[in-house]
Amino acid sequence: MLIDVSNMVQVLENHSVLVKEDHFAEKYVGRYFRATIKEQVYIKGVGLHTGLETNLYLSPAKENTGIVLRNYHTKEEIQVNPFNVKSTVNAVTLSNGSWDVYTVEHLLCALATAGVTDVIVELDRNEIPILDGSSIEFYQAIQQAQVIESATPLEPIKILNPVWVVSQDKYIIAVPAEEFKVTYTIHYEHPDLRGRSLYISLNSEILAKEILSARTFGFLKDVEYLRSKGLIKGASLDNAVVLTDDGYVNNLRYPDECIRHKVLDLVGDLYLLNRPIIGHIIAFRTGHSMDVALAKNILNHLQQNELIRKK
Ligand SMILES: [Zn+2]
Repeated sequence: MLIDVSNMVQVLENHSVLVKEDHFAEKYVGRYFRATIKEQVYIKGVGLHTGLETNLYLSPAKENTGIVLRNYHTKEEIQVNPFNVKSTVNAVTLSNGSWDVYTVEHLLCALATAGVTDVIVELDRNEIPILDGSSIEFYQAIQQAQVIESATPLEPIKILNPVWVVSQDKYIIAVPAEEFKVTYTIHYEHPDLRGRSLYISLNSEILAKEILSARTFGFLKDVEYLRSKGLIKGASLDNAVVLTDDGYVNNLRYPDECIRHKVLDLVGDLYLLNRPIIGHIIAFRTGHSMDVALAKNILNHLQQNELIRKK
């Protein structure tokens, strides 16, 4: 039998292989090797806050590029890391000082789940499209673009000692564990959201199945206030769960969709670190601000090689 090896030779020369799902790490979110996408993929949609239609391209990147946001018009770039976060009010905004990009967290959660470490995110506006309010459409686009792993191992950040952020009665703490897991407690004045907790061990397959489709949410009573602040211009029942005082305006995808979305945001925010984590993240009523502060804390300790070490 004759086998055409031309493709195989190409693959070996690139030190990369097409990835199967089973290359996902079992005990944490992501992969054992750095990875990019094989082909460019195009995504179009409105920004949640700006309401502007945005064209976005995810493109393959060289190894160790990290995740880079690129302005389609000016070609200026923003490296995705916790220290380039400019604002965490209502969404995570990254900046290079002259160009800002809003609402990066849902895309980051999809990239974390797919285990993509190196990619160029080029966009012609300054907000990542909200799509359906979750990460699932980004994840499907990444899968369509096909993930390719490099031969370079990707070391997860292993939490060896507790790292935390406390703000009044809210807290987020990373403690040692043998896998990546999250305990998140939500608390809002709503019958389904009063002190409800979700404890879940996460790897990429579980995340894709249980978390990525959970949509962002907001209270009907806050809509006018947020609109008066110039926010949520792109929000609609197509991209957000809207809560009334004791129920929901639209149908839910999961009975606990709101708390699952908080986990989605947390995973996305922590992927500002561009590396998987092994540890248990325990969060009580936190949001982007404290998630990002924890990411900075982890990075600081990592750089000082004190409390956290590479395994
Ligand atoms: Zn969100």
